[in-house]
Amino acid sequence: MAFQPGRRLEVLMLSWPADYSDAWTLSQSAARNGVGLHSGAQCRVRLGPAERDGFWVGRLQHPQQGLQRLEPALVTETRLCTALTLDSGPLATVEHLLAALAGCGITQAEIWVEGDEIPLLDGSALNWVEAIAEAGLAPLGARPPVALLTAPLTVQQGISFATALPAQRLSVAAAVEYPQAAIGRQVFSLELTPQRFVEEIAPARTFGFRDQVDQLRAAGLIQGGALDNALVCDGDRWLNPPLRFADEPVRHKLLDLLGDLALAGLPVAQVFAYRGSHGLHTALATALSVSNGPSASPAP
Ligand SMILES: [Zn+2]
Repeated sequence: MAFQPGRRLEVLMLSWPADYSDAWTLSQSAARNGVGLHSGAQCRVRLGPAERDGFWVGRLQHPQQGLQRLEPALVTETRLCTALTLDSGPLATVEHLLAALAGCGITQAEIWVEGDEIPLLDGSALNWVEAIAEAGLAPLGARPPVALLTAPLTVQQGISFATALPAQRLSVAAAVEYPQAAIGRQVFSLELTPQRFVEEIAPARTFGFRDQVDQLRAAGLIQGGALDNALVCDGDRWLNPPLRFADEPVRHKLLDLLGDLALAGLPVAQVFAYRGSHGLHTALATALSVSNGPSASPAP
């Protein structure tokens, strides 16, 4: 069952692109503030239209430094989030914002930030989807040609793996397995469209484990984590129910996967991640951007 957001968002959701075949940017700008998950500091983001393909980051306080295009090679840390090292400095926790932009069908946008982290907001991509809806989408015609895979591409880390198979459309699947009974084994797959992303994936929130929370806090991490921006699992129960979906954790894994893949642009492929992590997802994004070279055939 799809998560039912507030009426305001339902009204705004009426005109998402039908699929990912066209290029889109934002019509105008939209901004959000909030705390960063790891630093606990206030951060601000202003999204706006971009003239070139891709996602471009600039610093609100140093606009003269210009913009830098995001790509998987900028990833320098994937332990708890996807963190980049840009020419202008570090930028952590980019995955939910990038998932929202790419998932909604945006292929190019400017992301102006104040602070070294993208705000966590409610732990899902829903607030970013609202910001995108508020800004509106502007059509740019057909999406620039995307190289299609000619053979399966797999990356593996321990028992985890992610694979991209040749396909004519984007479909995504994830499977997770946790010893904690509240999560256990979950699988979720769908042929992705912007509408399905907004309804089925964007509302799924970050989750963590009670026994790790104290350790991470002591290590100076997750200073901005709270029971209102992350689901916390305690063995066979959740500390802060209700869940938005019975299988919210695996849907959040898909959200993270999409955000990490968006560093290279969403592929036209069938993608599956088994026990995914930011390290695994960004390795697949790197492999996809490398395969986007002369050996792959252009889309018709
Ligand atoms: Zn996440």
